[in-house]
Amino acid sequence: MIETGDLTKTYIMGDVQVHALKEVSVKIEPGEFVGVVGPSGSGKSTFLHLVGLLDSQTSGKIVIGGTDVSKMSVATRSRFRLEKMGYVFQDYAIIEDLTVIENIAIPAFGLGEEHDEVMDRASRLVEEVGLSGRADHLRRELSGGQQQRVAIARSLMNDPAIVFADEPCANLDTDSSKTVLDLFQRLNEEKGQTVVMVSHEPWHEKYFHRMIQFMDGRIITE
Ligand code: ADP
Repeated sequence: MIETGDLTKTYIMGDVQVHALKEVSVKIEPGEFVGVVGPSGSGKSTFLHLVGLLDSQTSGKIVIGGTDVSKMSVATRSRFRLEKMGYVFQDYAIIEDLTVIENIAIPAFGLGEEHDEVMDRASRLVEEVGLSGRADHLRRELSGGQQQRVAIARSLMNDPAIVFADEPCANLDTDSSKTVLDLFQRLNEEKGQTVVMVSHEPWHEKYFHRMIQFMDGRIITE
């Protein structure tokens, strides 16, 4: 479970303070597929970055699976992120000179695993996300939707408990978006992974078990 208590983030830019998140307290249960919604600038990405341990809060608490993450050392936090969390961003973040399967395998090499075992697992993920026959392709040979499926497979490489997705369909047409969302839905149902997804498209709502709606740095409805 992810639990935040009075989670607050204030960005300081010179003399200006931006109160991006204001005392946000929320719980997300294991296996939930949660949509994080709200207008632009309402704090959605900030929330995702904080609970995804990609940035640090100004104040407040984040407890994940019973562990208070703010009490972790930097090294423990990195390992925790690598083992327990997967990330999908809107720009896919695929490395240009690596093949599909090599891109997918990256997080496992971060854990120092044995090469053959890693490649076997990456190969299974290539199939799972529907990219059979494209394992050796490079980024430039893939459509946006295919690149996002590589990013999803990569996020699953270490079998994380939670997958964070920040507007994963922002750069995709409706058909590719549907393929990507169907894939998230299937993986959530089959693997029971918690999925926390930022979205601004009303038609995505039917995929979510629940929505957390932000406005001006606060949750207005759950
Ligand atoms: P959303 O994802 O809902 O569009 P964000 O979490 O990106 O909202 O932003 C919330 C507020 O924090 C906005 O006012 C935004 O301009 C500000 N903000 C976000 N990131 C930064 C940053 N790195 N530095 C300064 N202000 C930021």
